[in-house]
Amino acid sequence: MSDLISQEGYDYKFNPSACESCQGKCCTGESGYIYVSMAEIEKIAKLLEMDIKVFAAEYLFKKGYKYSIKEQVYNDSHECIFYDRNTNGCKIYEARPTQCRTFPFWDYFKTRVDELKLECPGIVDV
Ligand code: SF4
Ligand code: SF4
Repeated sequence: MSDLISQEGYDYKFNPSACESCQGKCCTGESGYIYVSMAEIEKIAKLLEMDIKVFAAEYLFKKGYKYSIKEQVYNDSHECIFYDRNTNGCKIYEARPTQCRTFPFWDYFKTRVDELKLECPGIVDV
């Protein structure tokens, strides 16, 4: 087992080796929002060598005053448009948004560990 990752203030640890066999449950499944800041939009557009406006029109949608990455539906699963089913990875991994980088250590899950465990098989009790 690879080293478990812990973070102060959280009553669980994360086993990153679980990602190898999980098939991206955090990037697929139920529909959700994958929020991106302006700085993150610029970074992803740069990685993809795209003009920001073209990138936004193709890959983002507006949710209130924020932007979220689009999803695509595959076998009833709502997948992030950047999820790569062939490699079980993220097509923009180096520029993935903070929301993705910080998963599974989200404030929301501090008091909802059981809900998190249903989504992520890498959660380990401490
Ligand atoms: S749900 Fe958890 S184990 Fe699965 S890919 Fe995401 S972080 Fe890894
Ligand atoms: S940007 Fe990458 S890590 Fe984030 S949800 Fe999409 S595929 Fe997953």
